[in-house]
Amino acid sequence: MVQINENLCKNCGYCVKFCPKKILEIGTVRNRRGQFYPVMTDEEKCITCAICATMCPEGAIEVTEGGSKA
Ligand code: SF4
Ligand code: SF4
Repeated sequence: MVQINENLCKNCGYCVKFCPKKILEIGTVRNRRGQFYPVMTDEEKCITCAICATMCPEGAIEVTEGGSKA
């Protein structure tokens, strides 16, 4: 699963751009930094490749295998 720590996000869009499944998009809610942050559009399509986490310059994304929502 993918966990996005939205308050670390600076809305660079890298995770959205590089997700091979195109299931991340910038949402409509601002975080504590006043930035819009990404949301997952179709969790079932996620292949937990962790490219989003690797690309994130803020370390805002954590990808783990399986598990339930925290
Ligand atoms: S783990 Fe891979 S497929 Fe899942 S949201 Fe991140 S980049 Fe996309
Ligand atoms: S890569 Fe990180 S900082 Fe950039 S939009 Fe995605 S979550 Fe936010």
